[in-house]
Amino acid sequence: MDLKALYMYAAVAALLLCCAATFIQSPTDVYGPVALHAPTPSSARDFGAVVTDAPFAIMRPDSAADVALLLRALSSAPPRPRATVAARGAGHSLQGQAQARGGIVLETRSLPRAVAVVASDGDGGAYADVGAGALWVEVLEECLKAGMAPLSWTDYLYLTVGGTLSNAGISGQAFKHGPQISNVLQLQVVTGNGEVVTCSPTESPDLFFAVLGGLGQFGIITRARILLQHAPPKVRWVRAFYDSFETFTKDQESLISMPEQVDYVEGFMVLNEHSISSSSIAFPAHISFSPDFGSHGKKKVYYYCIEFAVHDFQQDDDGSSIDHVVELVSGEMSYMRPHVYSAEVSYFDFLNRVRMEEESLRRQGLWDVPHPWLNMFVPKHGIARLKDLLMDTVLAGHFDGAVLVYPLLTDKWDRNTSAVVPSTPDGVMYIVSVLRSADPSRCGPGCVEEILEQHRRVADEACRVGGGIGAKQYLARQPSQAHWRDHFGSSWDRFAARKARFDPVRVLGPGQGIFPSTD
Ligand code: FAD
Repeated sequence: MDLKALYMYAAVAALLLCCAATFIQSPTDVYGPVALHAPTPSSARDFGAVVTDAPFAIMRPDSAADVALLLRALSSAPPRPRATVAARGAGHSLQGQAQARGGIVLETRSLPRAVAVVASDGDGGAYADVGAGALWVEVLEECLKAGMAPLSWTDYLYLTVGGTLSNAGISGQAFKHGPQISNVLQLQVVTGNGEVVTCSPTESPDLFFAVLGGLGQFGIITRARILLQHAPPKVRWVRAFYDSFETFTKDQESLISMPEQVDYVEGFMVLNEHSISSSSIAFPAHISFSPDFGSHGKKKVYYYCIEFAVHDFQQDDDGSSIDHVVELVSGEMSYMRPHVYSAEVSYFDFLNRVRMEEESLRRQGLWDVPHPWLNMFVPKHGIARLKDLLMDTVLAGHFDGAVLVYPLLTDKWDRNTSAVVPSTPDGVMYIVSVLRSADPSRCGPGCVEEILEQHRRVADEACRVGGGIGAKQYLARQPSQAHWRDHFGSSWDRFAARKARFDPVRVLGPGQGIFPSTD
């Protein structure tokens, strides 16, 4: 056993003694030379800011071997773990999923974050080997140096590779390339037992598929091999406005049936003037769409906006070839004429567009406040009902925030992964994201709880088993194991069997509340 291993065991033993004795409330620098530290405020916090569970200690591993030492020590006393461990990437969870009350938060940002781009593996495929604690923006910056980029994204890039691969990772490219979990070639994972495993669809495939979308339950991802493509220098970014939800969704579905022409499709509800201005922070074209939203006592009117993008590889071209593609595509659409707007932006700026929204929210003091968000995958046949449900509840009163609505194709999701999507006979589902910032000093005491309760009622109705819309929540922490069983439906048994195999002592992922240690 090397010196580092010895230190680690000593630290874990000391931690366990402290936990057992309970007279020491937090670890101190006595653990200095080893990898456990006193908790920081951020280890008990996340972007959602509605759950605050303080850990006993945090760990900043230097390597997969460090993670393995910790997990081996903690899982060696079945049937209960000596302490639980939650991986924390960028901490952009919404409901405490990366927290570990009384346990250890393992900060993956400290793992090596080098991004190694391999332009071709000989079969024409290109990939990047990236540390799981790297942010997607760091991956993008490194890959662009080689003229390459991953295929599938999230809207916001300041999330870690390990964090999004533990959920799914979706954005407007997912209709074409699938979610981020469909674009991974290989992973290095440390299982709950402390075993370091390199896995892929052909090598230890059970672990590979378990971990993708696995909500941090089966292992800590320490490295990932991500599929790449050539990066376009520029992107033509188009927005078109609608006054009919039916036409809006029909056109979105038509766009996702044109993957040869179109590279990105999203959309959002235009609820008021603010929706237009706040969503246009990064969009550089002037929008002269200023409709009547039904003010002065009239019934509320909503509009909708489709956003699509086309990659532009023609560096020396005057833009006419891309104009032609955009004209061709928009010609098929039934937006409110003349309300279509387009802008040419660099690929980096396009992918990093939400950063500008972040900066704006920070300026308004709305970034570090609670974010009671609701995200659902909704089968195509239920999307109109879901929209009505939102209008009768969430949107009926005062609403500050954004509502994203865009379609995805379920056949781009590998059913072997742990991610859950609804059954859809026609293969089309929508992501519906209700994104709100709620500062109690502005919306009043208790407003966060009221919003959470409102979202819970919508989710219960939309996800109800039998007779409901058949939706599935995304990024949500379910309130009980019974709810988790309903959420997983027929894949619950597989999920539970994976847990029993890869993390039998239930060390990992306490913040998800899927396998409480008392059940
Ligand atoms: P964390 O919050 O740190 O962790 C999330 C979960 O993954 C936890 O359970 C944690 O224990 C586990 N985990 C983290 N790292 C690892 C690892 N290495 N191995 C195993 N388990 C791990 N999602 C989308 O799909 N599309 C979007 O467009 C999108 N936009 C977003 C925009 C904002 C502003 C925010 C706040 C979130 C957004 N999300 C989006 C959600 C986001 O993908 C998830 O919250 C994701 O988990 C965040 O990554 P993170 O690094 O912050 O993870």
